[in-house]
Amino acid sequence: MAKPCIICVAITGSLPTKANNPAVPITVSEQVESTQAAFEAGATICHAHVRNDDQTPSSDPDKFARLKEGLEKHCPGMIIQFSTGGRSGAGRTRGGMLPLGPDMASLSVGSNNFPTRVYENPPDLVEWLASEMLAHEVKPEIEAFDLSHILKAAEMHRNGQIADTPYVQFVMGVKNAMPADRHVFDYYVETVKRLFGDDAAWCAAGIGARQVQLNDWAISSGGHARTGLEDNVRLDRDTLAPSNAALVRRTAEICEKYERPVATWQQAREILGLRLPA
Ligand SMILES: [Zn+2]
Repeated sequence: MAKPCIICVAITGSLPTKANNPAVPITVSEQVESTQAAFEAGATICHAHVRNDDQTPSSDPDKFARLKEGLEKHCPGMIIQFSTGGRSGAGRTRGGMLPLGPDMASLSVGSNNFPTRVYENPPDLVEWLASEMLAHEVKPEIEAFDLSHILKAAEMHRNGQIADTPYVQFVMGVKNAMPADRHVFDYYVETVKRLFGDDAAWCAAGIGARQVQLNDWAISSGGHARTGLEDNVRLDRDTLAPSNAALVRRTAEICEKYERPVATWQQAREILGLRLPA
């Protein structure tokens, strides 16, 4: 049987607002409702940021706690992944929710440019975030905005700063960072296999119109796929995505095209080495 494909849905992010697409879930109850529909459509990882009521990014651990509680109730078994990205806060506030013990959290291990600023991930903060993830048994997802981030993850794994084989996500199509370049993508895959073994799991995310392209490349190359309104608010140039679930369904169709079954949450947890929920 072909390897099941894990679909991650990045429901909210830090940037898109209702003005970009009214379907972007902002409040915790909107987030839970949107995620439940995406879960029913086949997503098994929920990558989440939280927002203030005025839609600006937040790093409030209480909001993360309410979101986790809602997801556990309405999406039982789904993998909960919190963002420790840099748009919602500075320094250690980025990891203030890690003591809640989500299944996973995103971890950027190096710096790069973003559309209008530098995405700063200084070594001491990266080490601290990784140590908090170790302490609270949170599996990191390494956000590789650049080749060096994959090699950094390997070094951190060797040093015991990352417990299991690193699960790397290639992020392509962020303006001023790595574009969606097929040769680079193939070299990323080759590098992950060389460093972590042929069977190591990896995934990929594309921004904007590149989302569907990266889904296609990842699914056809044996990787896992990320979709959702955080990265892209459109189905095509003229059509807003009506929901996170609609984007998940589109990704599931690509899985079908390449004859990859969409992973159940049990399969997703097994692939990622995550415990079953209590
Ligand atoms: Zn994110």
